[in-house]
Amino acid sequence: MARAGSPNRPRIHGAYHPVAGWAVAAGVTIAVMNRVDAHTHLFPPSQRDARAEIAGRDHTFGEMYGTPEAKMATLAELLAALDAAGIQHAVAAGFAFTNERDIEEQNSYLLEARRCARGRVAALATVNPASPGWERLARKALDLGAAGFGELRPHNQGWDPLGPAGRALGGLARDAGAVLLWHVSEPVGHGYPGKEGGISPVELCRVATEFSQVKMVGAHLGGGLAYYLQMPEVKAAIENVYFDTAAVTLLYDDQSVARLVDLAGPGRVIFGSDYPLLSPRRQLQRLLGQLPGDVAKQVCGGNAERLFRITTTHD
Ligand SMILES: [Zn+2]
Repeated sequence: MARAGSPNRPRIHGAYHPVAGWAVAAGVTIAVMNRVDAHTHLFPPSQRDARAEIAGRDHTFGEMYGTPEAKMATLAELLAALDAAGIQHAVAAGFAFTNERDIEEQNSYLLEARRCARGRVAALATVNPASPGWERLARKALDLGAAGFGELRPHNQGWDPLGPAGRALGGLARDAGAVLLWHVSEPVGHGYPGKEGGISPVELCRVATEFSQVKMVGAHLGGGLAYYLQMPEVKAAIENVYFDTAAVTLLYDDQSVARLVDLAGPGRVIFGSDYPLLSPRRQLQRLLGQLPGDVAKQVCGGNAERLFRITTTHD
């Protein structure tokens, strides 16, 4: 692997082949490994400044971000964290706000961040299919370049992922080729702010089966859904589901990602830190130390590049 001249982008003089992922420098072929942190969260400074006020009207936001100790990051801070980690790209989501005003403010910032980051950041827009104007906001976000929607918290927002609202979102995602990132609530284990209110592994299995053309990511190792890939009919039904590693160190033991790769295959596991909750640098180094090189290449970059259609530009 090339030693990066700058922390945010491998600097290689010579030709780069974007598909094969190798570069030729002075007659030597050097493998380039693009890294993607596929689960991060951003907020506009205006929402960080209004934290207490928003916490007063949005119960789940209050639970997760009500105290000043709960970190809220801006684009500049995300890019600095990526640089420090030697990560080229991120997929940024916001928060599953309830009301449309907060969602619109959030999406405007995420899509502006995507534009300003010039290819380094893919954006997932916030939606609330329980609110009357959600579809207009969702289409507007797609028109402005959102790669999909998330991190989805259906039960916090009060809609049923298996009901009419979930079907409307699934249909829109299918027609637009949009990715859905779900917060998956583990049905067991310790509690933490924001644990409840996502989708359950059972619901995710059903939604993914019904909308098999829609690519979906089950956050936080999919809440255990991958275990059931050992059932042939489940394995065949949810080939469209990927599993990210967000917050893994707060939830699972040291072997969990390697086991997930065994269950789901290296092409379906995606590195995500849950920044700013956790450090992308530490989370990435941990995975690189645990996974064989060819597996790490897919998990820590290649899979997310394909899924979110991240295009790389090299100097
Ligand atoms: Zn989550």
